[in-house]
Amino acid sequence: GNSEKDMFGSVVVGIGTAGFVRIRDMLAPLPSSAAEKLSVKGFISRRILEEQQGVKQITVEDALSRDDIKVAFVCTENAAHEENIRMFLEAGKHVCVEYPMAMTHKTAVELWDLAQEKGVVLHEEHIELLTADFKQLKKDVAGKRLEEGFLHFTGGPLKPGFGFPAFSGIARLTWLVDLFGELSVTAASMEEDQQNKYMKMTAQLITKEQKPLTWIEEWAPGLSRAKDINFRFDSCTITQLPPATREPVGIFMQDLVLFSQKLLGQVPRDQLHAERRRVLHCLELADRIQQLSLQGSAQDT
Ligand code: NAD
Repeated sequence: GNSEKDMFGSVVVGIGTAGFVRIRDMLAPLPSSAAEKLSVKGFISRRILEEQQGVKQITVEDALSRDDIKVAFVCTENAAHEENIRMFLEAGKHVCVEYPMAMTHKTAVELWDLAQEKGVVLHEEHIELLTADFKQLKKDVAGKRLEEGFLHFTGGPLKPGFGFPAFSGIARLTWLVDLFGELSVTAASMEEDQQNKYMKMTAQLITKEQKPLTWIEEWAPGLSRAKDINFRFDSCTITQLPPATREPVGIFMQDLVLFSQKLLGQVPRDQLHAERRRVLHCLELADRIQQLSLQGSAQDT
């Protein structure tokens, strides 16, 4: 049974789409999963809000000092992640943060180190790796030798506080790294028309085998959310996400179960290390893409 003392009392910070889903999932966790060990105790917002799905707003001070609150879910806009993560880690709380955890690689390293020093779990959500179509794509790609790849994301416009596109779009970069291994950045550029809220970032990457990958993030009002892929292999070319049946367990719930397993010490050390390495690698690439893009635009003017 779930006696109160072995439960992980939790607080959700930031009540947008992700924050709403975290509360919903904790109120109805996957039966017989580790997520049943979480119990939502309240939420934090910069606004004064009514109860959300029957859960009450609490103050930051309350959340940090209460012994029955052991976990924080950071679901704010990206620009506020660092401050929130730091505050909860300092207070000895476990943290689950919606990607990306930080807006620089250096900050992310500091946050991981802090989590380790405090002996708590720091988890970055990656629902994009948990979708049925991505899992199928990964199976389809396995064993093939990439010659050249292309991933073009459209959506938008980019919301304020979500940062440079290489960070707000870290999910696409994570796909590429998860599919093709660690990458390097060879060039990057950015086109921006602030008046029309238009943004296009182009990054040129190469795999360890020196095969080129192009990653484009394009954001503008009215652009529908879509991904265009073209992966050319020695044996075939994949130009579409494979059809896959939606899984019965939602992707945020799958992530919640994984995070809960980490809290319970059920995730092997190797897997934890591999995840940390992937997260930091992606943020390092994003950093480099941002640097190169900004250098380029400085030369244009
Ligand atoms: P959202 O815009 O729905 O909610 C963000 C929250 O932050 C809201 O409470 C909003 O009021 C507040 N906020 C936003 N910008 C602000 C600003 N400039 N100043 C003050 N408050 C501000 O966003 P979301 O989709 O819930 O995203 C939250 C986090 O979750 C982000 O880090 C995002 O990258 C991540 N994420 C979201 C999804 C998703 O499916 N929505 C998936 C993966 C990761």
